[in-house]
Amino acid sequence: MTDVVVVGGGLAGLVAARHLAESGLDVTVFEASDGVGGRVRTAREDGYTFDRGFQVLFSAYPAVRRELDVEALSPRPFTPGATIARPNHRSVLSDPLRNPTAAPQTLFNTDVRTADKLRLFRLQRELAERDPETILDGPGGGQTIAEYLAEKGFSKRFVERFAAPFYGGITLDRSLGTDSAVFEYTYKMLSEGEIVVPAAGMQAMPEQLADRAVSAGATIETSREVQAVEGTDDEVAVEVGGETVTADGAVVATDPATATELTRVDAIPTDTLGCVTQYFSLPTSKAPDMGKRIVLNAADDRPNTVAPMSAVAPEYAPEGMELYSATFLGVPDGDDAALAADVRETLASWYPAAGFDALEHRRTDHVPLAQFAQPPGFRADLPAPDAPDGDVVLAGDYTRWSSIQGALESGKIAAELLF
Ligand SMILES: Cc1cc2nc3c(=O)[nH]c(=O)nc-3n(C[C@H](O)[C@H](O)[C@H](O)COP(=O)(O)OP(=O)(O)OC[C@H]3O[C@@H](n4cnc5c(N)ncnc54)[C@H](O)[C@@H]3O)c2cc1C
Repeated sequence: MTDVVVVGGGLAGLVAARHLAESGLDVTVFEASDGVGGRVRTAREDGYTFDRGFQVLFSAYPAVRRELDVEALSPRPFTPGATIARPNHRSVLSDPLRNPTAAPQTLFNTDVRTADKLRLFRLQRELAERDPETILDGPGGGQTIAEYLAEKGFSKRFVERFAAPFYGGITLDRSLGTDSAVFEYTYKMLSEGEIVVPAAGMQAMPEQLADRAVSAGATIETSREVQAVEGTDDEVAVEVGGETVTADGAVVATDPATATELTRVDAIPTDTLGCVTQYFSLPTSKAPDMGKRIVLNAADDRPNTVAPMSAVAPEYAPEGMELYSATFLGVPDGDDAALAADVRETLASWYPAAGFDALEHRRTDHVPLAQFAQPPGFRADLPAPDAPDGDVVLAGDYTRWSSIQGALESGKIAAELLF
């Protein structure tokens, strides 16, 4: 008999498996798909690296520092800040303290008024004083990001040109309807660390977690979908591929909808937010200079952002080629070809001097579940990790908040409940 079965090999399940194995327990992870990572997966084709949707790692997340060896991932950092783009117009907004070479551009940026730059700076100092672990349940919650920014005095122009595409990109909701605590947390993390992608793609992160779990003694079985988890006071019966595995305890670390089916815990949030990410290549000789910053669409949301992936991580494209990602929020109107046509047109309007004739649409990823919805006050309704019957516990971002940080910390919390 196994001591603990972990259902799901995403970030939360892998962290739980590692901590359980390190405490001396016999642990088996069942993962339904053909590899670990869950929402953090990467595909490789023709020398290109395609993360499944535009996703990045915030190096300042406390749980990232605890659970991962970021240096071993060969992190490739984005330059702090962003380029704000409209037809025939681009400007840079950066953090002058962390990116002094961009200070003049930021100072003379007319998309963002001086008063808003000062508000940002003040907010950065205010948040520097706060413990990240307490921000999510602190006084900032209970209002949307849009309401919070208005209350802090930020102008409509700042919201439309910067906050909506930037934080809309992070929260997958350009209307900024997410709980403002998520804004405070991520703004603090952005101010105190880097945004990076591993040289080998985002999936290198769960692969490192899996290696750590296996080194600690856990077994990971992929292509093993669990159909049922029944906990009693004595043992837990896990049904997987027609077989019943018994264990002393189980961690259900699946996506929220599957966790609801397996545990019947109604408090698990099942409203989801998604995106569509398209990838494009262009010969380096024809590529405009985007630097290593995310480019924000200040005019509309088609697409919401463009990221120069290979400028940030040269390993993402073969020699002589560049790779760009373009992300649409939610379920955009139009088929993949129509979306790609919009990206081409938008890029040409932002960089009129560049030629995009050689721009090649390489891939489209539809990601229906990237995050669960986090409206104001969402934390009060989240399920407790020990909500299921018997020795079954929940792990997953949906027990904390929808992020790499939330998933990693949830795995450790779940493991500690079963020690
Ligand atoms: C496009 C995109 C962009 C994102 N951007 C960021 C970002 O920039 N920063 C950030 O912090 N967060 C970001 N996130 C969110 C972050 O990736 C997630 O919050 C986190 O990965 C969730 O991890 P998890 O382990 O809780 O769940 P999941 O990753 O959903 O893992 C659940 C696992 O359970 C498995 N499973 C499901 N059913 C079964 C079953 N019956 N039997 C066995 N296994 C099963 C699944 O296959 C999966 O591997 C992004 C997510 C996406 C998709």
